This record gives sequence, C-alpha cells and structure tokens, in this order.
Amino acid sequence: MSFNTLGLNEELLKAVRQQGYETPSPIQKKVIPVILEGKDVLASAQTGTGKTAGFTLPMLQILSQGQQMRQRPIRALVLTPTRELAAQVFDNVKSYGRFLDLKSAVVFGGVKQNPQAVTLRQGVDVLVATPGRLLDLHNQKILSLAKVEILVLDEADRMLDMGFLRDIKKIIGFLPAKRQNLLFSATFSKEIRLLAGSILNNPIPIEATPENSTVEKINQKAYRVEKDQKSAFLIQLIKEGNWKQVLVFTRTKHGANKLCKSLLSKEISSLAIHGNKSQQARTKALEGFKNGSIRILVATDIAARGLDIPLLPHVINYELPSVPEDYVHRIGRTGRAGASGEAISLVSGEEMAYLRDIEKLTDQKIGFDKIEGFHATAPIKEEVRKQEPLTEKQQNNQTRPIPRSEKNRREQPKREGNPENQKRFRPKWPKNR
Ligand code: AMP
Repeated sequence: MSFNTLGLNEELLKAVRQQGYETPSPIQKKVIPVILEGKDVLASAQTGTGKTAGFTLPMLQILSQGQQMRQRPIRALVLTPTRELAAQVFDNVKSYGRFLDLKSAVVFGGVKQNPQAVTLRQGVDVLVATPGRLLDLHNQKILSLAKVEILVLDEADRMLDMGFLRDIKKIIGFLPAKRQNLLFSATFSKEIRLLAGSILNNPIPIEATPENSTVEKINQKAYRVEKDQKSAFLIQLIKEGNWKQVLVFTRTKHGANKLCKSLLSKEISSLAIHGNKSQQARTKALEGFKNGSIRILVATDIAARGLDIPLLPHVINYELPSVPEDYVHRIGRTGRAGASGEAISLVSGEEMAYLRDIEKLTDQKIGFDKIEGFHATAPIKEEVRKQEPLTEKQQNNQTRPIPRSEKNRREQPKREGNPENQKRFRPKWPKNR
C-alpha cells in the first residue's frame, strides 16, 4: 500500500516523498482516512509507530482545504507533555507542511516567552504546545483558542502522568464546542478513558498493532549484575560490542550524572539528559547523540519521553524502572520504524521485583543471559559491606532502588503550571491488547 491511496493531496504526498517514506506505517494507514473524514479518534499508539505523521498529515490537509482567514487564528492545537516532544511535533508539522500555505509555531516553558509571543501575534494556523506555557500565554491574552477546529492530545497518558489533567480541562474550556478531537495514548488507564469520554465525540478507536508488538519485535536481554558492578559491566558491553549509539536509562538524575562520569573516565563520550538540565543543554545533548558526536546518552524516564531518535540499535536499562509501563516506553526507543534493536537490562538483586512486574505487564518472560568473559573485579560481598557501613555521603551517592511505598513519587517532572496537579498515577496496560 502506498501513501497515494490514503486521500492525501499532492502537496502532502510530495513532502512525504521528500521525507523518504515509501509506505505508510500501520497506524498511518488506519488513522489518516478517518481523520480526513472529520471524525474524532481514540488511538492507541506509542512513539516510534509513526503516529506524528499519522495525525499531522490529515490535519494539515483539512486546514489547507478550509477557509483561510487573514489574521490566521489558531485553527489546530497539538498538546504534548514535554518540550522535546513539542519541538519534534513542530519539526514534523514544518516538514510535512512545507508546500502548503500554513504557518505553525511551538510554545513550551523553560525558554523566554517573548519570541513566542511575537510569533503568535503574527498569526499561526497550527500551534504545538505544552499545557503550562499555553495557559500562561492565554492568561496574558497573547493568544486566543476561540477558533480551534482540531485538537490533538499527543501522549495523553504521559500528560496525565505528569499532572496536566487540570490544565488540559482548562484549555478545553477555552475551545469552541464544535471541533475535531484526536487523542493518542500508549496506555489506557481509567483516567485516560474518563478524559477521552469527556472530550471525544463518538470516537473511532484505532489500534495500530497490539500494544506489545513493539516489545515482541525487540530482542530483549537481561543480565544479573549487582549495582556496584553495573558501570564496569556496561563499559565492557559498549567496548566489546563497539557500540556507537546507546541510550542508557537510569532511575534518578543523580544516577545519570554519576554514570556519565564513569563513562567519561573511560573515554566514552556521553551526556546526561534529565529534568535538572536546561532546555539548551538537553537540546545540545540530543543533537550530539543524533549526529554521532556523543556515543552514549544517559537519560531518566521523564527526560527521554517522546525523544525521536530513529533506528536506535541499543537501549540499556541500567536500572529497571519502578513503574513497569516505563519499561515499555524505554525499549520502544529501539527497533523503530521496522528496524530491529536490542534492549538490555542490568538487574540487581534488589530489582528482581521490578523485573517480575515488567514480565507480568508485558506477559512474557525475559530471563537472564549468561555473563561470559566479564572481567570486572568480583562483586563486593554482602558481609564485607556490612562490616564497613557507608558514610552518609556515600549513601547519598548510591542509586538505590526506590522502595515500593516511595515509587511514583520520585523524579517528578519539573512542570509549568500549578504544582497541585502533580499527582502521578500508575497507568494500567490495556486489557484488550
Ligand atoms: P513517531 O512515532 O511519530 O515518533 O515516528 C517515529 C519515526 O518514524 C520518525 O523518525 C519518523 O520520521 C519515522 N516515520 C514516520 N512515518 C514513517 C513512514 N511511513 N516510513 C518510514 N518512517 C516513518
């Protein structure tokens, strides 16, 4: 099947060809015709499935066919949970819309507001935004949402996860009642279903492929490695495999920084990306990683959410996530757009419960690979550690697994807007996968 059969106009098909896409991805095949018909959509898709083009292409076509107004009010609004995802969606909108007479802009927090305000005042047809900055700008009357025809909620699960529910509801209150709504989410909790029920109007449910198909396609391995051996083990994996582009996940910001230092000490170029880093530093790290000047990108879950890194060969779970859904999101960074990839987890004794949660969620056994030829020093024995208790400073420097009572509370994203909204819930994997 080619893009020509989906009902897209020549300007969009030309942009798609320039992008180098030959065939539409499964979600694109299903969602593009439905959106072009003007229907609301409830789509189950995670990053890496081609969902961005799935909603952007038909959205641009609808806007280009509709009546153009001279002052260019915002006619399509795309909400995303993170700045990185907003920037990526904006890039997509620009690329796919390059042959159309439509203007687009992106707004997110963490950067100066003034340039965004200047762009908005000149009029934009498509606005991509994170909820907090959008509300700030709306409150200052820098923008109006009264003419929005299409609303897209991208990665809706993560938006709720990050405490944006109240902001989203406020934003929806500023939109006209008559509009087309598209909701994309990787997971479907009760909260997502409630939100979908309150926003969508007779939505067409779209499931690209069963949610865990990405998981099945990816070669998953696990090694039983104690935490004091993990960095040596990882360095050996990278060196022996001569890996050039590896995304490594840690659970904490501190853990990410610490691992980066160890890698750098072995002359392996690496950078950390997490909530304490400025937007500029995050963008720079991502650029370096994409262009190959940085070999290893060490990221926390929140920071990595929505990153578009095509054809990533290796993803390492240096520490397992305490929320099993994060595992699915993490390993979704590899094997993208049909390519095969490898996801490797380093699991310490204390993380075994997390591994079991992941296996339960994904309905598969991951199992341990044998560690052959690992030359690091023998693990420090438990008795020795007991005899030499860690100092307080050393303890603070440990990247301990988060106790279950504490899990979901740590690594709260730095968000714009009302801090009361920062309730994190644990989304459930959909039953019908
Ligand atoms: P997304 O899930 O939207 O983040 O897209 C994941 C990656 O797939 C991006 O790098 C896109 O450029 C790429 N992509 C999207 N659609 C296609 C397609 N039809 N063929 C090949 N690659 C695609």
